Amino acid sequence: CGIVGYIGKENAVPILLEGLKKLEYRGYDSAGIAVMTDGVITVRKKKGRIQQLQDLIDQEAGADNAGEHCGIGHTRWATHGEPSDVNAHPHTNQSGTIAVVHNGIIENYMQLRERMGRRGFTCVSETDSEVIAHMLEYYGTGNPIETIRKVTDRLEGSYALAVLFKEYPNRIYCVRKDSPMVIGQAPDGFYIASDAPAILTHTRDVYYPEHGEIAEISESGILFFDEDAQIVEKETIHLELKE
Ligand code: GLU
Repeated sequence: CGIVGYIGKENAVPILLEGLKKLEYRGYDSAGIAVMTDGVITVRKKKGRIQQLQDLIDQEAGADNAGEHCGIGHTRWATHGEPSDVNAHPHTNQSGTIAVVHNGIIENYMQLRERMGRRGFTCVSETDSEVIAHMLEYYGTGNPIETIRKVTDRLEGSYALAVLFKEYPNRIYCVRKDSPMVIGQAPDGFYIASDAPAILTHTRDVYYPEHGEIAEISESGILFFDEDAQIVEKETIHLELKE
């Protein structure tokens, strides 16, 4: 029921987990993260509380997650498919070169799953979200903005998406329609979340992507693209402290 992301100088894993904990109040039944290091995407996800995800990460990776400076995360409130490890986000394509977190509901997911199934892309989860990862592979154009646009043009429903592509390393791609998203700019990097409280300890300078805008975020900067894949100039908004 919430997404987070981080790219920057700091160690991504603790930042993602902290962000997920701050989204806890939105309700969730499972959680997961995907990080990218040296062009390899690693996904860890778990049904249950965020502490269980934390334990899994500590077991598998040890305390040493340094070196991971780019990642996305998700707290899930299941709409399609029971709460389970498999149905938890992030979802990937078959070869694990694309990872996606999705907040929202894809209304036409049945048709999309069937269509992708006929083309040899089989979903392993029961979610309405996983098909997006396969579509991002199938509709790959060599240009990530065009690829994302081709996929979102085919989605009906609501979504906030954050995507990692092995092919375009050290970048996070974001797009939204009828689901909230905020991107914060801090001296150390960029913070992505479903809503501002999850990132306020890091920055108060934020962007709110419009419906249909695609953001390409790297450690050094952020670009926004409109529906025609043209760059849009956006100013940060400074959030004032609420007493
Ligand atoms: N509809 C998606 C699912 O059931 C995402 C739910 C959410 O926003 O947490 O997996």
